[in-house]
Amino acid sequence: MADLTRLLTSRYDIPSSWTLAAAEKAGAYSIARKALTAMKPDEIQGEVKAACIRGRGGAGFPAGVKWGFLPKDTDKPYYLAVNADEGEPGTIKDRTIMERDPHRLVEGCIIALYGIRAHTAYIYVRCELVKAIRHLENAIEEARQRGYLGKKPFGLNYEINIYVHPGAGAYICGEESAMLNSLEGKRGETRLRPPFPAQVGAFGAPTIVNNVETISSVPDIIRMGGKAWAGLSRVPGDGGVRLYGISGHVKRPGVYEGPVGLTLRELIFEMGGGMLHEDRPLKAVAPGGSSTPVLRPDDVVDAPDENSPLHPYHGKSHLDVPMACDTYRALGTMLGTTCAIVMDSSVNMVEVARNLMHFYAHESCGQCSPCREGSGWILRILNDLARGKGREEDAALVVEILNNIMGNTICAFGEGMCMPILGILHKFHQEFLDAARNGVPGSPLGESARELVLGQLTG
Ligand code: SF4
Repeated sequence: MADLTRLLTSRYDIPSSWTLAAAEKAGAYSIARKALTAMKPDEIQGEVKAACIRGRGGAGFPAGVKWGFLPKDTDKPYYLAVNADEGEPGTIKDRTIMERDPHRLVEGCIIALYGIRAHTAYIYVRCELVKAIRHLENAIEEARQRGYLGKKPFGLNYEINIYVHPGAGAYICGEESAMLNSLEGKRGETRLRPPFPAQVGAFGAPTIVNNVETISSVPDIIRMGGKAWAGLSRVPGDGGVRLYGISGHVKRPGVYEGPVGLTLRELIFEMGGGMLHEDRPLKAVAPGGSSTPVLRPDDVVDAPDENSPLHPYHGKSHLDVPMACDTYRALGTMLGTTCAIVMDSSVNMVEVARNLMHFYAHESCGQCSPCREGSGWILRILNDLARGKGREEDAALVVEILNNIMGNTICAFGEGMCMPILGILHKFHQEFLDAARNGVPGSPLGESARELVLGQLTG
């Protein structure tokens, strides 16, 4: 049975857990008080670095290292921008922190701001997360009235302010530079880099962009000490505990907390309660949101090289590899947000690819021709395949278009869109050939579905 640690979620089940009264009774703000009154900013940065916390927003960059990128020789203020634009399909974790324990995020912001020598944090929240926005705004106001925010938090002469900024629902605003543009009131389009946000971020000033869960982990890192917190993980160099989400064909979808390095088998069959239908076995899993290439349970690790991070799992199912940034990269996928989408044997993978491409074609910000035009082109091909109007050579054409998008775009959206489709094409190639001959049975674009709709329309 997985060893489940509850730090981030420890206050989730307390009645009215989002209020200051409930959160403070369970220990909220005691660490911020200690950090601001008894620690130096460099000590805080040192603990976060020792914690080896890899960013929880999907890219997996070490947060402590990122904090160290702020320039020393500037007369501009530093900012903290918290990315709460949780819009990746399948990703359902950050909202639980904001809805059920917003004071943990506020406390994390206070400590992080002091640690990086900044005074202002912006929390950029996806506008659809109405409850999260309400609870966060309420938490910030409660903390301000209690004297934990404002001119002299905890009596220290170090002004701290936190603002909630609702986005307008564009997926691309989850990309850090598009988020900063949107924060400034500009169109949510990505920026060319360099310069990176740590040099030129919000309002032209050095800015650290961190995910909600990353910042919410800071109080426990400071309370335990970075090294002890890192040791909660099963995987060296990828520290601590994290939130795991699971959705799709499992009995108990939801958000769970566990050490870094849980396996997909534990997530699906222990936390998730196993497959929803006993007679429909597991077919594929997108391990960390829609942008992460799928894994198959019948694929085994092939890593005879002792230097490979996968060597200890040589010969085992992909489901038994610890979920960590480096192991999953070596598997040819990505850890992403560790929010797994589970698909059983009833799922047609051409339809999955079509569904994903429908999303990405809609969400492309349109700045780069390969991304803007290529996504629409692939969607039209996949639509034709689903309708039974495709050709056997379409799979190869899709691969060619994808290969011409990757590496030729401003931002990582291009890769995030192409890699999962390439993965599906590679691992379920036969289904594309079958679709070319027969279409996709049951597809909303298929003949039978269209007849049904037309029949309803014509009475
Ligand atoms: Fe926009 Fe796509 Fe280019 Fe990113 S890759 S900047 S989303 S067009």
